[in-house]
Amino acid sequence: MGNIFLIGFMGTGKSTVARELHARAKAQGVPCEYIEMDQRIEEEQGMPITGIFEKRGEAYFRDLETDLLRRLAERAPGAPRLIVSCGGGAAVREENVRLMKKAGWIILLQATPDTVLRRVRKSKDRPILNGNMNRAFIASLMEKRRAAYEAAADLTVSVDGRKVPQICDEIARKTKALEVIDRLKKEYPLAACTLNYEDAWQLLVSVRLAAQCTDARVDMVTPKLYEKFPTVEALAAADPAEIEEIVKPCGLGHSKARDISACMRVLRDQYGGRVPDDMKSLLALPGVGRKSANLILGDIFGKPAIVTDTHCIRLCNLIGLVDGIKEPAKVEKALWEIIPPEEGNDLCHRFVLHGRAVCVARRPQCDKCCLRDICRYAIEKSYE
Ligand code: SF4
Repeated sequence: MGNIFLIGFMGTGKSTVARELHARAKAQGVPCEYIEMDQRIEEEQGMPITGIFEKRGEAYFRDLETDLLRRLAERAPGAPRLIVSCGGGAAVREENVRLMKKAGWIILLQATPDTVLRRVRKSKDRPILNGNMNRAFIASLMEKRRAAYEAAADLTVSVDGRKVPQICDEIARKTKALEVIDRLKKEYPLAACTLNYEDAWQLLVSVRLAAQCTDARVDMVTPKLYEKFPTVEALAAADPAEIEEIVKPCGLGHSKARDISACMRVLRDQYGGRVPDDMKSLLALPGVGRKSANLILGDIFGKPAIVTDTHCIRLCNLIGLVDGIKEPAKVEKALWEIIPPEEGNDLCHRFVLHGRAVCVARRPQCDKCCLRDICRYAIEKSYE
């Protein structure tokens, strides 16, 4: 897993969370190092942060932060994993963010000004709050930094009213998801639907035909269908028996032909031949379920979407992104909680590619897999 840099305003619990993440990694036998940036700078400078601010000024301290992050980012490959608790201002400087992103994931811990004030009000080593230990000042400072923090973060975790183990569980799940996304992107740079289509309505037809059938077979059948019925109107006017005659190699020919016919008639009569671009309208179309609707939203309209097909469900359970969930809607809900919305659609296409090439059903080739060191199934199997 990549290094972790915890950023956020003072008092959000970065050091406490970092120590717990470090302890968990150690308990799992993962070589890991915990670094508290302010503490490391104090040790290296031989004086407290307040002293550095007083004697050398804030700009000097910020340069020390950048220098430390540069050294961390340039560590040799294979060095122990880093869990770094960053100083409150570290993520404000663009160079620092670049260095952290080069080395790992940036996780923003978010809290309300009230939570922050409650946690720091008795602290004597917050030079930036000297003489301003009140909610209004903290809120204004947080607001000034908010945009920089949010732009820097790979993911955000709220700490308000939550205990450290809960926060760490969420970080573990979300960073694992980021790691899976990143590695599969490198393995399969092109993430595209394996069904052939030229128009949105054709993808609707193909995805209905793909139920309990291979994409390859669907792609063999659809050219004949579109040659005979080249438009929504032509297909809507067709006798379902004629459609069935062409699509029966895909199996379930009668019900698939009936759904395709009904769906095309709705597109013709209610949408002027176009495919709607919202989940509710798509789900109202005959033969269209959440999987198909998500595919249309993601591939045709570029909207956030998660397509929970058989590969997605199987891989997510093996890897450990979900725990024993087999129902598509529940897998989709669980993934929405841990995956950045803009990544969902392509990730699902990559699950299909990986499920066909490497993580094959009933005989996953873990020794060839780019996920083997973070995959729950492979890790548990290595203990047997
Ligand atoms: S490590 Fe094995 S089980 Fe895990 S995703 Fe890779 S092939 Fe599948």
